[in-house]
Amino acid sequence: MKRVQPGFTRELRRQVREGAENRPGVYRFLGPRGEVLYVGKSVRVRTRLLSYFREGREGGKETELLRVARALQWEYLPTEFEALVRELRLIRALRPRFNVRHRRDRRYAWIRITREAAPRLVATRRPRPDGSLHFGPFPAPRRLSALLSELAAEVGMRDCAADTPIHFADQLDLLAPERTPACIRAELGSCPGPCAGLCHSRRYHEGVGEARAFLQGDSAGILDDLAARMVEAAGRRDFEVAARLRDRRERLERLRSDVLEFGRYLESLHFVYHPSPPTESAPAPVTTTCVILRGQLRLTLPPSALPLEPGTPDADRVRRLLDEPPPPPHHRGAQDWEELFLVARWFRRHPEELERTRPLESLLRKTPSPG
Ligand code: SF4
Repeated sequence: MKRVQPGFTRELRRQVREGAENRPGVYRFLGPRGEVLYVGKSVRVRTRLLSYFREGREGGKETELLRVARALQWEYLPTEFEALVRELRLIRALRPRFNVRHRRDRRYAWIRITREAAPRLVATRRPRPDGSLHFGPFPAPRRLSALLSELAAEVGMRDCAADTPIHFADQLDLLAPERTPACIRAELGSCPGPCAGLCHSRRYHEGVGEARAFLQGDSAGILDDLAARMVEAAGRRDFEVAARLRDRRERLERLRSDVLEFGRYLESLHFVYHPSPPTESAPAPVTTTCVILRGQLRLTLPPSALPLEPGTPDADRVRRLLDEPPPPPHHRGAQDWEELFLVARWFRRHPEELERTRPLESLLRKTPSPG
């Protein structure tokens, strides 16, 4: 890691001019107490750093950053991909106050079937290790909560507050006063009314099972039912209702396909990757081997001939990694998910890089079977 010691803006620029090279890497601006103010990455560190000092650049984040920065550090990485991952990891570890970019990752969400007496369907930004079921992650549409209310109405699940008291009809409570539903959904028939003892626990949980099967892709019953009601409404010439049912069916179908497709896509990010070396690299192009497991860069191996010979330290590390069982969603930290989204974005923006991936099996030389 190159270090530029405190000084004025002019001094920082001088040191960048003298010391920085046009190679992929990450850089950090440091404040008066050595605190990291900003972390960035570039395929050409020198050009990027000099752009901060360009004359006539007034206002905005760069100006404010240069006003408080007292030092600069940078390090080189073999490829842009590795620089991108390193940048994310540094930002998450150091939380520099000028970095706001990665907050965009919050647009991803999970659908959660809560673990409650009468479970609910809720949208969440963070999976919770509380026994809830999670579906996703996927790029959350703006209307996710409204869509989940529609799904809840189709299967007969409540969408009221978590602390709504629940009294199933099969709960023995002989002295209980007569209860009235706490909202209009019971009257409209879209909720079986577990708040007022209007349904048995088993009936309610059948609806939960239906929602679960729908989101897992195991059942299209909800869509079939909507289609049948739509045809029926059209048959009695109630075209307004038929159009509403058609639109709801389309929305729920899209929701389910987003959940399933994106989940499958993320899980397919499981391979060996040799990122393209930078075009202007110095001193010479380097091709590393990145081991990506479920969308996370788990290991970078120096340029070496593959497959690895069994029994070597690198082969042992790889074998241990491959033998790890996949973690359940709530065991992955926010940082893991952010890295997974970053890797997914990288391959979506650079589909040609998928040509540089290989199956994980290509990492290790197969030991000949005895005899
Ligand atoms: S009817 Fe009762 S249980 Fe159903 S959504 Fe309304 S308040 Fe909740």
